[in-house]
Amino acid sequence: MKLLEGKTALITGASRGIGQAIALRFAEQGAHIAFTYLSSAEKAMALENQLHAQGVRAIGYRSDAASFTEAEKLVNNVLMEFQHVDIVVNNAGITRDNLILRMSEQQWDEVLNTNLKSAFNICKQVIRPMMKSRGGSIINISSIVGLTGNAGQTNYAASKAGLIGFTKSLAKELGSRNIRCNVVAPGFIETDMTHGLTEEVKAQYIKNIPLGRYGSPDEVARVCLFLASDLSAYVTGQVLSVCGGLNS
Ligand code: NAD
Repeated sequence: MKLLEGKTALITGASRGIGQAIALRFAEQGAHIAFTYLSSAEKAMALENQLHAQGVRAIGYRSDAASFTEAEKLVNNVLMEFQHVDIVVNNAGITRDNLILRMSEQQWDEVLNTNLKSAFNICKQVIRPMMKSRGGSIINISSIVGLTGNAGQTNYAASKAGLIGFTKSLAKELGSRNIRCNVVAPGFIETDMTHGLTEEVKAQYIKNIPLGRYGSPDEVARVCLFLASDLSAYVTGQVLSVCGGLNS
């Protein structure tokens, strides 16, 4: 028996990187996959095909995670196609780095809306159906930067720290309904998001990582699989860092 057999997972921002790895890992364990993307229809189509090849149902939806009305439309469509949503991964995220003296209001708003408001947008829509089906698992992708702070990332760190408070509160509200809510806080993971860092900066970061390397998207996906499945049936309101020991 696969770990997620018969479940439906909704994953935001899955056309590449960590979201894509989560979609593939969940599908391998039998979950049907609804995922969102923002712009790359080609990549979304390619992922749909990869997921179908694993023998599950999969649909990619173009949907801006920052938009409340788009989230409402998205979840209605997903429920029409899949009937229930058992697992949600709020993964969509962006950076707009700048020192506070130079940070624009737009950079602040874009990051807060995409990284934090997005989780509110989706959770508002899925909680009622999850209550009806008497359970669910919500996983919000934060960052160790949300725990430690980082110069040049006040907007990003605030959004990721906000996700932690949001998730812990949600866990308290929804525990009695058997809906579990947890946070995954990745460290440095090799994706497009970290691709732009210079080799020098990367080497500097690696010095502080006890495991001595960057993580892979699938290493984050495997922790999400644990939180999505019944292996973690008694785990809620927790932050699990996937960072090679960086914050230990
Ligand atoms: P990525 O840039 O490769 O992927 C981000 C995904 O989110 C993309 O598919 C993008 O299209 C999507 N997205 C962005 N804005 C969106 C929007 N408004 N609506 C819908 N989708 C949107 O980055 P990644 O490294 O895979 O990051 C995934 C998550 O992990 C993010 O929340 C990020 O903050 C977090 N994270 C990443 C790292 C890392 O080192 N890569 C570390 C800590 C946390």
